[in-house]
Amino acid sequence: MTTTIDHHHLRHLLEREQQKFRDEHPRSFELYAQARQSLFGGVPMSWMMKWAGGFPIFMREAHDARVVDVDDISYIDFCLGDTGAMAGHSPQATTRAIAEQAACGITTMLPTEDAIWVGKELQQRFGLEFWQFTLTATDANRFAIRIAREITQRPKILVMNYCYHGSVDETLIALYDGTARKRAGNVGAPVDPTVTSKVVEFNDVDTLRAALAPRDVACVLLEPALTNIGIVLPDAGYHDALREITRATDTLLLIDETHTLCAGPGGYTRAHGLQPDMLTVGKAIGGGMPAGAFGVTRAVAERMVARPEADYVDVGGIGGTLAGNALSLAAMRATLENVLTAENYARMIPLAARWSEGVARVIEEYQLPWHVTQLGCRAEYRFSPTPPRNGGEAHAASDEALERYLHLYALNRGILLTPFHNMALMSPATRASDVDYHSVVFGESVRELLNPA
Ligand code: PMP
Repeated sequence: MTTTIDHHHLRHLLEREQQKFRDEHPRSFELYAQARQSLFGGVPMSWMMKWAGGFPIFMREAHDARVVDVDDISYIDFCLGDTGAMAGHSPQATTRAIAEQAACGITTMLPTEDAIWVGKELQQRFGLEFWQFTLTATDANRFAIRIAREITQRPKILVMNYCYHGSVDETLIALYDGTARKRAGNVGAPVDPTVTSKVVEFNDVDTLRAALAPRDVACVLLEPALTNIGIVLPDAGYHDALREITRATDTLLLIDETHTLCAGPGGYTRAHGLQPDMLTVGKAIGGGMPAGAFGVTRAVAERMVARPEADYVDVGGIGGTLAGNALSLAAMRATLENVLTAENYARMIPLAARWSEGVARVIEEYQLPWHVTQLGCRAEYRFSPTPPRNGGEAHAASDEALERYLHLYALNRGILLTPFHNMALMSPATRASDVDYHSVVFGESVRELLNPA
């Protein structure tokens, strides 16, 4: 017997929580009203409208795993800037390096010694030989895709259903009743993404094989475990098959480690011995400073230089004036050297296990048809009894009203979860007591949901 959710009662609870949120955040509400005079949607970036309260809390300060808002409310932060602050908010080593670098040159169009250190570090962590820097993971993906197309002279890329790799045109495609179409909501697509891209379900080896057989795909771009439609782990043997098929069809394998860096210091790639041709990463590596990077193997680098007509130094489509700036590199070096270290992962990963156990206990106690999945220092629950094997199944296990309720319930009791996920991320500064408090609040939110008093 599993429990079913009464959506009428859920709506009622959601309204109650929205009122509580409105009442307890007068200053944020006032600032939101002011912001609407000059900011589209009243927010600096439109996705901030997604927070569950109807308006965002305005942040006053953030330290370690805590955020304090302008109404003087303190939150345990499991959102951590949706991974941008996985190193914790303003870790001391990073802020010191930023302050020192900011005082003596921020961007000059010249390399600094830090770039060499970071390049070497990324080489050791991920195993790819040559590195370039960007300001965002999105840019890293865009440039890696361009390079893949250039050196293979193939027109298409292939992505996984319900993937997310940033606002990269080629990736905003999904399967609807088995047919590839531009992803719902895709704003002003420059071309129909079916012209540039193919999309298959994660963990589906046969479809992948068929899609790559015509040899018109430059690269497969994927997260090694999906994290943007809940967490979807690869089946045993999936990565071996993927590597074998990509090699057999001369298709490049491009792995996006931006979120899966949660799996360990060298991401999922290192933890599971994967061998991508190209790898992208961003968000957390700068400790919160805008920073992204892509790495390529020596073989890919050789193919890049073998095409002298490709312009990598001027207006060929790869660049960004501020990319590789001194400040971002100082932040990356300090963060990788001192914060996102193996020792800290060894503390963060068990905390995610503890968080998952707390959630699993509640699921079990109330016989909910939900599950929780852990991936390194990240964990997420979703509304299906068993873990989905692909993006399509994971998408089917969403429930927007339920998510809003659980997020807002937690927010109203001092816990931040990412607005896009039922996800929690552990930083080096997260404490066991933070995790245990979440378990209690999650249990309460479910109890209220199931007991219409
Ligand atoms: N890759 C992955 C896997 C992501 O999850 C995201 C953003 N959530 C990006 C790339 C893009 O990151 P950014 O928006 O910082 O460029």
